[in-house]
Amino acid sequence: MSSWLEERVWERRLNRRDFLWLSSAALVGCAVNPVTGSRQLMLMSETQEIQIDKEQSPHQFSADYGAVQDDQLNAYLNDFGKNLAEKSHRQNVPYSFRAVNAAYVNAYAFPGGSIAATRGILVELTDESQLAGLMGHELGHVNARHAASKASWDMVSTVALAGTTALLAVTKYKEYASWAQVLGGVGAGALLASYSRDNEREADALGMEYMTKAGFNPSGMPNLMQVLVNQSKSKPSAFDRLFATHPMSDERLKTAQNQLDIKYADSKNLPVNKERYMDHTAKLRQIKPALEAMQRGEKYMTQEDFNNASTEFNKTLQLAPNDYAGLLMMAKCQMSLNKPTDAQRFTQQAQSIYPTEAQANHLNGVALMAQNKFDAAYQAFDQYEKKLPGNPNTVFLKGLTLESMQRKSAAAQEYNRYLQLSNQGDQAKYAAQRLQTWGLK
Ligand SMILES: [Zn+2]
Repeated sequence: MSSWLEERVWERRLNRRDFLWLSSAALVGCAVNPVTGSRQLMLMSETQEIQIDKEQSPHQFSADYGAVQDDQLNAYLNDFGKNLAEKSHRQNVPYSFRAVNAAYVNAYAFPGGSIAATRGILVELTDESQLAGLMGHELGHVNARHAASKASWDMVSTVALAGTTALLAVTKYKEYASWAQVLGGVGAGALLASYSRDNEREADALGMEYMTKAGFNPSGMPNLMQVLVNQSKSKPSAFDRLFATHPMSDERLKTAQNQLDIKYADSKNLPVNKERYMDHTAKLRQIKPALEAMQRGEKYMTQEDFNNASTEFNKTLQLAPNDYAGLLMMAKCQMSLNKPTDAQRFTQQAQSIYPTEAQANHLNGVALMAQNKFDAAYQAFDQYEKKLPGNPNTVFLKGLTLESMQRKSAAAQEYNRYLQLSNQGDQAKYAAQRLQTWGLK
């Protein structure tokens, strides 16, 4: 990941809150793995899995610009996914499936069964057997409870949504320090579990099992991998996060191919349903050139080449003028060019296009702050929080806007609230210092 993204990713250091959470979670101890039937150390109970999913998945979906505003496509994916889930080991998980607006290539699952695929990956697939491979793989992670049994700290430390969005930018906001660093709602991909190669192998095997049971040609699994590997060669940056969270290897592909030839030899004539997939995703594929311009723009953003990024997002908006994700990417780009007034034009347009999605409100607040319109910025952050509670950064920014309006006691309330959510990192230090200086702690 490039530095621009890194700065937006929540600090992964384990803090006290994580530690307390881990201490209680560790008490869960051994549980029977629903897939293997053997006992295994689980760091989360099923109730905790669902709770964590509920707290975190809305933030990831919003970071990915929300579910697509295409009810037919979401309904198609949800029905498709639930049909597959009926063949899985865990029937009582509250599964849900959607497409999200992000342009990069990825799919992911939260431990309580909330599963998403980006527009970027859906336009790469060509039939339902590949979609079944993709969804089957994600279902595999949920069913084998990979998030719950992970021994690494990654999953655990991301439980805390709290982070550091670059104190430099925040404290020097009046000097127009790098606004790119204040933009973040939730760091891109920071909430996603990254899996081990063993996890990947198991998810692939389970995916093939579920898809075949659901009547799809199991060749969709190796075909899916082949498609993704081939496409990643021409635009690797769009695939970064997919391969970071789901490590890809020749070995994975070979194993899936072997499984197809040996275990699933009798199922090779099952349908791949090319036409059905093409029909249901036709509208999406119409804007593939716009999605590709977004992918190129995002690549330039990570390289901090904001002028070229702006050119690509311009192309995006020429091809798809009302694209919520395209508008917000352009807004972030304009903020990075220190053009908050231009940025605000795009955030406002985005808001009117997708009024229930929260990210536009957050970016709008930042754009207003950069114009010293603190009252309006506060309102924007408040609107964001009403749509999507639980992001400590918003609480901090609310404190900062109130402080800028000389409303000390209201600011102190927000800083106190922030410190309850996160007591480590630069923002926490800043908040605590403020309270101390004001004698309000
Ligand atoms: Zn995976």
